[in-house]
Amino acid sequence: MRQLVLLVCLIICSQCVVMAHQASITYVANEAVLITNGNKKVLFDPFFHQAFGTYQLVPEETKKAIFNGTPPFDNLTAIIISHAHGDHFAADDVLRYLQKHPNTQLIAPQQAVTELRTLDGVMQILPQVTSVKLAFNQTPKSVEVAGLLVDVVRIPHAGWPSRASIENLVFRVTLTHLDTSITVMHMGDADPDADHFLPFKDHWQKRVSDAALPPYWFYFSAEGRDILSNILNTKNSIGIHVPIAIPRQLKSSGQNYFSLPGEVRKINQHHNH
Ligand SMILES: [Zn+2]
Ligand SMILES: [Zn+2]
Repeated sequence: MRQLVLLVCLIICSQCVVMAHQASITYVANEAVLITNGNKKVLFDPFFHQAFGTYQLVPEETKKAIFNGTPPFDNLTAIIISHAHGDHFAADDVLRYLQKHPNTQLIAPQQAVTELRTLDGVMQILPQVTSVKLAFNQTPKSVEVAGLLVDVVRIPHAGWPSRASIENLVFRVTLTHLDTSITVMHMGDADPDADHFLPFKDHWQKRVSDAALPPYWFYFSAEGRDILSNILNTKNSIGIHVPIAIPRQLKSSGQNYFSLPGEVRKINQHHNH
């Protein structure tokens, strides 16, 4: 009997170890996603107040879990903001989160940081903030923040040439844990026009992504699908920014996308030797 108990414990424990080292993408809402590889955790676009009656808001209990650092939202390495639109970014919540979690970094376009800077109490959290200033057509940038490798390029917001002044950033983040790594690309509200992407061929070729997270409208045009398949150097893609009422065209597209908060996709880690 004792041996059986021991055996069961061993099996459970060994599974825990395996679980803990798995890498994954967890859908939060709209373009909010949690990327995890071991002790490296990146949360994209988690705080926003607007959904325009169309998109998922972060469920109240999930928001509470994020603020309280309840697993899987414990010990976030960084929060990353794609752009300063109301369905991706709320300066007040970002400030409150960073005040409560002094070990979490923020990486955000200058436009979002400028908004943050208008709030009382911002001075205390500025050491946690990396502001990314990128002009349209500017050479991509790479930064290392808290052990994360972050490559950033500015790609115009959907609806180009309107909204040209919005600093929409496409982030490619590599999360390394022990001898494993994964790379994920978050595209914000990028415009699915190949002309925006082709000038940065070297940037895309520099590193392969395990998954890209395009706004779902990339699947609706041949050009958008071509960008995903032939330009971005990504193995896979999972659509985000999906309306609550899932478009029939998306449902029947056969493409991979997130629509239910809490959905998880596993990512195969690379072993760095
Ligand atoms: Zn937007
Ligand atoms: Zn949006």
